Amino acid sequence: METKYIFVTGGVVSSLGKGIISSSLARLLLSRGFRVTIQKFDPYINIDPGTLNPYEHGECYVTADGHEADLDLGHYERFTNVHTSRANNVTTGRIYQSVIDKERRGDYLGKTVQIIPHITDEIKRNVKLLGNTGKYDFVITEIGGTVGDIESLPFLESMRQLKWELGSNCICIHLTYVPFIKAAKELKTKPTQHSVKQLQEVGIQPDVLILRTEKDIPVSMRRKVALFCNVSPDAVIQSIDMPSIYEVPMTMHSQHLDEIVLKKTNTPYSGEPDMSQWTKFLDMMNSAEETVNIGLVGKYVELQDAYKSINESLFQAATYNHHKLNLRYIHSEKVNEGNVDELLKDMDGIIIAPGFGQRGIEGKFVALKWCREHDMPTFGICLGMQCMVIEFARNVLGLKDANSTEMNPQTHDNVIDLMEEQKSISNMGGTMRLGAYDCVLREGSKAAQAYGTTHISERHRHRFEFNEEYRTQFEEAGMQCVGENPNTHLVEVVELPDKKWYIGTQYHPEYSSTVLSPNPLFLSFIKAAIDNKKK
Ligand code: GLN
Repeated sequence: METKYIFVTGGVVSSLGKGIISSSLARLLLSRGFRVTIQKFDPYINIDPGTLNPYEHGECYVTADGHEADLDLGHYERFTNVHTSRANNVTTGRIYQSVIDKERRGDYLGKTVQIIPHITDEIKRNVKLLGNTGKYDFVITEIGGTVGDIESLPFLESMRQLKWELGSNCICIHLTYVPFIKAAKELKTKPTQHSVKQLQEVGIQPDVLILRTEKDIPVSMRRKVALFCNVSPDAVIQSIDMPSIYEVPMTMHSQHLDEIVLKKTNTPYSGEPDMSQWTKFLDMMNSAEETVNIGLVGKYVELQDAYKSINESLFQAATYNHHKLNLRYIHSEKVNEGNVDELLKDMDGIIIAPGFGQRGIEGKFVALKWCREHDMPTFGICLGMQCMVIEFARNVLGLKDANSTEMNPQTHDNVIDLMEEQKSISNMGGTMRLGAYDCVLREGSKAAQAYGTTHISERHRHRFEFNEEYRTQFEEAGMQCVGENPNTHLVEVVELPDKKWYIGTQYHPEYSSTVLSPNPLFLSFIKAAIDNKKK
């Protein structure tokens, strides 16, 4: 069949959950046997979000092919189990860079280079890139930002042209917000009408409206919206707040979103999507009674999106272990010798978070020393693993000055040091060790037991590494390097075998954990935390 293009736009306010709606629709279409990919077009000028700090834009997600991506790509993968890539996340910066490169090369010789048609053509080319591979029946494109932003205009204009060129092979789903005014005890649809009008002003008629709401919107009110917005009444559906994002595919299906999309794109279909595995997960989630308490020690704790993939991986692992997750954020800057016992003692397991720079790092060492001495199940991820190594060096090997050269370039004991290939790099964007690399695990190690195999591949995002020169010293004192890259021999996993569960990974296992295939290391960590709680 010809590839169908579905655009998802948002209006009224941001943070409506376009990513969750796109992911839910993709899940339903996949479960009907269609081949689907989701891509995100972001209107900001950064080439990618890799140079943004988490306060700006939440977590930076990393794809298997090493692209630093918007966190929505994490949702796409968690819902669909389909890998995304560099092609699935395009920014205004990337579009302009490519057009300017072409201009310098002389591709437009003799012409004035303009937003229309040059920028819009480049956007259209990128929208169709994955569709043109022939690998997908549906390409869902989420447009970042809110309709009406100056930045979004070239994207909307490209969408308008594509809708015109592709006919019924292209539709637009517009997500808006219907606020409930407490004083008047009323739901208000006016912002939705205005937002649709803004789309219509740039020549786009939405085909489906999804109304985000905290309260049930009466059918009569949805009819009214349909009438004012030129949308068929059956294609105005509501997305009411759910206790879990993983319920959204089912609430969308109960309002026939998948069928509406199939009908509007003239796609033949029959029967129902097979959501049996998905609903099994939901059943486990909803029937869990006991709680596992996990503390996450990190410095971006004020912001719930900063550790998005870790949160979701923990939640998935808790669900598969038939437990509810109680995740407590522990601000690493506030942990000290005086309060560490109070902060950590009620936890069943501790995560030491990834991160960059000196701020908050001393608190991580204090927490780690406490965890090691109290045999608390502990999971160090990336910087968290590096902190495990440094704490062990300082307090077990007696190397008081041990550090990472990221924090102290002059340290005498550089147990964590810049990777050789990083030494000549001066540009900050896209230059870390990124993406999936193979790792071989030591037979019999806890990590190998968790994965059930000695050959794995996980995604990375770092510049510093375990310093090979110290390896024997660590291993003799009990910290084992149980995972390494088979080609470069970089240390990927460390563990303390005599502890219940004390493992650090240089890679980020959270990027590969999905609802239907949770990451084995998270499953094993949560299981250890539950066993620890029982004792
Ligand atoms: N800052 C460390 C490094 O660059 C760890 C990075 C991370 O935690 N993602 O190696």
